[in-house]
Amino acid sequence: MTSASVKVAVRVRPFNSRELGRNAKCVIQMQGNSTCISSPKQPKDGAKNFTFDYSYWSHTTPDDQNFASQRQVYKDIGEEMLVHAFEGYNVCIFAYGQTGAGKSYTMMGKQEPGQEGIIPQLCEDLFHRTGENTDPDLTYSVEVSYMEIYCERVRDLLNPTSQGSLRVREHPILGPYVEDLSKLAVTGFTDIRELMDEGNKARTVAATNMNETSSRSHAVFTIVFTQKRRDQMTSLDTEKVSKISLVDLAGSERADSSGAKGTRLKEGANINKSLTTLGKVISALAEMQSNKKRKSDFIPYRDSVLTWLLKENLGGNSRTAMIAALSPADINYEETLSTLRYADRAK
Ligand code: ADP
Repeated sequence: MTSASVKVAVRVRPFNSRELGRNAKCVIQMQGNSTCISSPKQPKDGAKNFTFDYSYWSHTTPDDQNFASQRQVYKDIGEEMLVHAFEGYNVCIFAYGQTGAGKSYTMMGKQEPGQEGIIPQLCEDLFHRTGENTDPDLTYSVEVSYMEIYCERVRDLLNPTSQGSLRVREHPILGPYVEDLSKLAVTGFTDIRELMDEGNKARTVAATNMNETSSRSHAVFTIVFTQKRRDQMTSLDTEKVSKISLVDLAGSERADSSGAKGTRLKEGANINKSLTTLGKVISALAEMQSNKKRKSDFIPYRDSVLTWLLKENLGGNSRTAMIAALSPADINYEETLSTLRYADRAK
């Protein structure tokens, strides 16, 4: 695998209380970077194997030797992407999977020691690294935005009083952007933590008011990281700007499996459209990396708001990682298998 392709990880969580209550059996096994899922109907013959860059076993208690902690997931994936951002690349990490499979836990986590997800750990590491700079000609600036995409509409999570949805536009050089989206300058981890909390709260409140759950929207946390270098001889500044997009995707469960009607069905169709388009974009980029596709070939970024906005983070000068969250339980077998297939196509 070349360093330019998409890094793909899968992670299986512990049983939840519903699964425990239903006496669920674990259908996932992992060894090294391979993941095996066995069909509850034919446990012996129905096993399917997949190989990823990382297969994270977070199913049993943290004393388990093979247990993948929040720290480890950050070290492997978050830190690598942060290093790419310092090199000047745009980067994108997104979490995919069925509702309840562990996307938010992996991306945001909990504010308890050892439970913080990739986003807070990456922000803390970013400020730690910039704080170590002793070069007087090098300065950094960090700006943050946080939005939610629901039914192809964009909501500003850092300005929840703003009414309605925001327009998505395309700048001829800088690419797609959201008009009037708040972009706030931050100077330390405490600032960013406050914005993160504010945004997470806005997400929950909006979801409750609209009688929906946040699992049906995509949350996109973006850090614009600028490194400015002054040339002593000429006194001219050069800037390196990297966009770091951290995305908690909507639940991937199919609308048809929940008997959805009316608004729900439309929602399902919209969510599926973004997730299907994202899958197509990533597979097309992966094919391009392996020279199966030419650079000029069409990539359908504009088919969904999510992929259009992530355009500069997925193709070209960028590095992407995807983490697929898995339920261990036999009762979620079909959804988990479809998540594994989605992750497999992204490689
Ligand atoms: P999603 O965002 O995919 O809907 P969540 O991240 O909210 O799912 O996870 C559902 C529940 O499972 C939460 O209570 C979360 O704390 C727990 N959970 C998920 N992944 C893990 C994990 N790796 N270790 C421990 N608990 C987890």
